[in-house]
Amino acid sequence: MMSTPTPPQHAPIPHYPVVNGELTVAGIPLTRLAARVGQTPFYVYDRAVMTARVQQLRAALPKAISLHYAMKANPMPAVVQHMATLVNGLDVASGRELRVALDTGIPAHEISFAGPGKSDDEIRMAVASGIVLNVESFAQLESAAVAARELGVKANIAVRVNPDFELKSSGMKMGGHAAQFGVDAEQVPTLLNRIKELEQNFVGFHIFWGSQNLRAENVRDAHDKTFALAYRLAESAPSPVKLLNIGGGLGIPYFPGDTPLDLNDISANLQRHVDECQQRLPQAEIVMELGRYLVGEAGLYVCAVRERKISRGEVFVVTDGGLHHHLAASGNFGQIIRKNYPVALGNRMDDTEKETVQFVGPLCTPLDLLGNKVQLPVARKGDLAVVFQSGAYGLTASPRGFLSQGDAVEVLV
Ligand SMILES: *Cc1c(COP(=O)(O)O)cnc(C)c1O
Repeated sequence: MMSTPTPPQHAPIPHYPVVNGELTVAGIPLTRLAARVGQTPFYVYDRAVMTARVQQLRAALPKAISLHYAMKANPMPAVVQHMATLVNGLDVASGRELRVALDTGIPAHEISFAGPGKSDDEIRMAVASGIVLNVESFAQLESAAVAARELGVKANIAVRVNPDFELKSSGMKMGGHAAQFGVDAEQVPTLLNRIKELEQNFVGFHIFWGSQNLRAENVRDAHDKTFALAYRLAESAPSPVKLLNIGGGLGIPYFPGDTPLDLNDISANLQRHVDECQQRLPQAEIVMELGRYLVGEAGLYVCAVRERKISRGEVFVVTDGGLHHHLAASGNFGQIIRKNYPVALGNRMDDTEKETVQFVGPLCTPLDLLGNKVQLPVARKGDLAVVFQSGAYGLTASPRGFLSQGDAVEVLV
């Protein structure tokens, strides 16, 4: 007998209960929320979901691990303020993000700044504010020393290492090859020596090996290699390592067939490393820096249906939202194969009769596709189409000026 294989499904979406057929966010029905926001499209972020996420992560991880929020995942100031009450520190990727981070009141020594092309002005901002500068080149170190001399302070320098290991990874790999990020592991001893010559304050290492990983065995493997590399590099350090940033890399399920990462499978291995690290680098604070894992599930993108249109037998649901606000959901943010984010009509959640549609935006380009052959109820003008898993790499990761359409707004509830 032939059996039809069931296509892979999206993992269930928690956090947003359906009440009277409507999705609710923080207890607010979606149509009410849209009225309160005053326009579509909008992003809505749920602070309680972020809070629960951090608590759950802390409960699963070894107690000694500090959590940093990587702001580039979602730099909305209200979100960053909220995250600052939950995590130990913030990681910024630009001078503008640094200003938002400093506004939160998080202590400067718990803020770090990564990025391959920092300007001299950004480096001076970092030195003047006393945050940890993750230097990614010899040139950045020299620039920091110039700023420090000018300002009459010492720069707090961590070395961002371009690891010499490649991961057995399914996610985005960031190591084991030539890269603009970090200083090649083999050049780090020379750089450490230069930090000493320049009489700056060596703080530690930042070893970032990848992103969006959903396989616990790959994360365990990365942790094994990261701690081993840190011990090796520490032998050349001018002073004790005070900060060891082991990267983040934890992924969230976006696409059909993706399953959530099991933290238990990571935690025991990490505890073993933490115990060993407390022996070998007793002064080191061990930091994990995460973006999407902390906020990705806490956000929805909501747009309104403009029309339902049939072309040669296919149904197109044309909305006022698209890739200009949500590049990642359109599949153009580094994905190799386009896959659908989970989507729904948020005001029609209980409709059982569904049809297969192309969920598209208003832009004059076939790239403006938010759902390819997705199942939605028969859409009507004004229905609220929702893209889940949109709390990270949404609005600020999108080409908002493209085709000069209106902007989306962002709210935190
Ligand atoms: C982007 C980035 C992160 C966050 O990655 P996520 O996949 O969102 O967790 C963390 N650290 C550095 C250095 C980054 O560049």
